[in-house]
Amino acid sequence: MNVRNCNRCGRIFNYVTGQPICVQCKKELEVSFKAVRLFIRRNPAASIQSVAEECGVETKQLRQWIREERLCFSKDSGVGIECEKCGKTILTGRFCEACKNDTMSDLRSVSEPKTPPPVEKEQKQKKRSQMHFMHKDK
Ligand SMILES: [Zn+2]
Ligand SMILES: [Zn+2]
Repeated sequence: MNVRNCNRCGRIFNYVTGQPICVQCKKELEVSFKAVRLFIRRNPAASIQSVAEECGVETKQLRQWIREERLCFSKDSGVGIECEKCGKTILTGRFCEACKNDTMSDLRSVSEPKTPPPVEKEQKQKKRSQMHFMHKDK
């Protein structure tokens, strides 16, 4: 069992996968997401700021959806996020085309990622505390 604090409301919940938020918040976000998507469809030239204001969603959340490639603003809106590598403005995802290609070749040459995701860290910590236990038993 992986118990975490919800990133959004702070309640404790059983973390399974995806965003670290509780079931209730996930439902609420899903509703907001649909509203946002509809709003963008109707107002394709809306800026990220006005979408956030109109839909009552944080720009941070909007950006996350863009990163997850769930949301995509039209080219006309001028809305974009920065490529995580070179900072170039892109419409959706995490990297621009050039960096995507770079990253793929990086992944092939680097066997160990420099920054392991938090889940792996937790597992390592768990292992360590188990070892600690074994020493205690002796
Ligand atoms: Zn929550
Ligand atoms: Zn880039």
